[in-house]
Amino acid sequence: MKLLLVETWQARASCRSLGDYLYFAPSSEREHERARRERAAKQICLVCPALLPCRRYALEANEPYGVWGGMSESERRRHRQTDLVPPPTVPPS
Ligand code: SF4
Repeated sequence: MKLLLVETWQARASCRSLGDYLYFAPSSEREHERARRERAAKQICLVCPALLPCRRYALEANEPYGVWGGMSESERRRHRQTDLVPPPTVPPS
């Protein structure tokens, strides 16, 4: 009997066996601590084989917290805002 295994991107995630501490901010985190934590998380994301599906998931799901797919919360927020900006229109003559 053969088993059909469906591999999800989560199964390939480099952060799979790491704790959340690098990817999600503790409540009392200071700005410089956040920058250092996010930089460390993103370095792992950079070489993660699941980077693109992870990023796509986070953007589509509007994940409000944490580093996903090499993007921080604020980067995803900016991405959403620029994505929501309507295309330029031709001014009436
Ligand atoms: S891209 Fe980053 S957050 Fe996403 S699965 Fe890979 S290591 Fe985890």
